[in-house]
Amino acid sequence: MVLLEAMQELPTRNEARSLDQADPLSAFRARFHIPQHQGEDAMYFTGNSLGLQPKRATDALQVELEDWATHGVEGHFQGRNPWVNYHERFASGLCHLTGAHPHEVVAMNGLTVNLHLLLISFYRPSGRRRKLMCEAKAFPSDRYALCSQIRMHGGDPAEDLIEVAPREGEHLIREEDWLAAIAQAGAELATVMVGGVNYYTGQWHNLEAITKAAQTVGATCGFDLAHAVGNVPLQLHDWNVDFACWCSYKYVNSGPGAVSGVFVHERHVRDKEGQGTLMPRLEGWWGHDAASRFNMDPEFMPMPTAEAWQLSNAPVLNMAVHKVALDLFEEAGMDALRKRSLRLTAYLERVVQSVARRTSTNLEILTPNDPERRGCQLSIVAHGHGRSLFDHLMAHGVVVDWREPAVIRMAPVPLYNSFEDIARFGKVLEEGLLAHDQG
Ligand SMILES: *Cc1c(COP(=O)(O)O)cnc(C)c1O
Repeated sequence: MVLLEAMQELPTRNEARSLDQADPLSAFRARFHIPQHQGEDAMYFTGNSLGLQPKRATDALQVELEDWATHGVEGHFQGRNPWVNYHERFASGLCHLTGAHPHEVVAMNGLTVNLHLLLISFYRPSGRRRKLMCEAKAFPSDRYALCSQIRMHGGDPAEDLIEVAPREGEHLIREEDWLAAIAQAGAELATVMVGGVNYYTGQWHNLEAITKAAQTVGATCGFDLAHAVGNVPLQLHDWNVDFACWCSYKYVNSGPGAVSGVFVHERHVRDKEGQGTLMPRLEGWWGHDAASRFNMDPEFMPMPTAEAWQLSNAPVLNMAVHKVALDLFEEAGMDALRKRSLRLTAYLERVVQSVARRTSTNLEILTPNDPERRGCQLSIVAHGHGRSLFDHLMAHGVVVDWREPAVIRMAPVPLYNSFEDIARFGKVLEEGLLAHDQG
């Protein structure tokens, strides 16, 4: 693609359109509602915050509302998707996204809730082994969860939380620094819990290497995959990850506040006889063995699956859309989506570099330039610019996330973003930078 290598000119809309036309995956865009701006599709790059609505969401909700209207409580058994085992509909789609086995995943609750439920099981400080490790500047909710867990166990976050930071003057955490920090904490390290893809820089950490290092020193290891699931290919089972959780409203497009997902590795969910484990966890009736759940026995018998962590019956109206969203991933195929994602993000990167050159602006990309260490997101610093640039972008139909002083986070999502979105963005960005200079 000679066109891209030396992109002095910005690509025209027509050039970008022909790239879209050549890729069969471009057809998936029509399966989503695209927000409008002045009679045209907005350039929506905030799928890392809230994914767009699949058009089939309305029908899926309608089915459950009708079955409720028709059957009342009998919808648990007579509904088209019987509610009594509704959560089982998600195993296949979640496995496709995470590289899990079906008995290792469950969709339930919200993300931070699940992070707590998993830490209760996997962070159990004792003796000298009390430390909890995460990345510096973790997503605030994760840090709150980690610190409160430490305090629940009588610890002090100032002592027991180890935050691995980038080196002085750098934005990304080097893999060798993760491994060194883990080795150094050694027998004092209880658990490592990292945001798999960093929400701010877009850095994709080497989850397999971190897991191996943590387990080598006798610690458990888990990940918050909010920015990873539906974005980068994952092999949680093969990587031997102990636990993970994620949300479904970002890259998975299941709607605001939609249900979270959980992974617990096989070796923690069942013993050698295939029975559920007696691992410490907070328990509820939907984690009880399904065959005898409705005997209403006073003693808890765990499911031999990740469902043992499930507390409540499924919020069907919330989860109906999740099924539609997961089906789209299975239909398109995560491998194919990742290939398109690599092309889209490389294209965006070149457009940004080209705009920088053409406008003599310092547009610094914080995200790793190695495609194997990032997902679709680029985090761009527009040095010398401020809020007026963001206002310009928004006024011209570009939806991106803005963080002071001048960090633009944008995610070209392979299911619904197009090369054309990116070409149009390049033009708006260039005009914004020039207008700002002149002003
Ligand atoms: C989006 C996100 C959250 C949000 O948590 P909720 O419980 O879903 O509100 C938490 N952690 C990370 C890393 C996130 O990216």
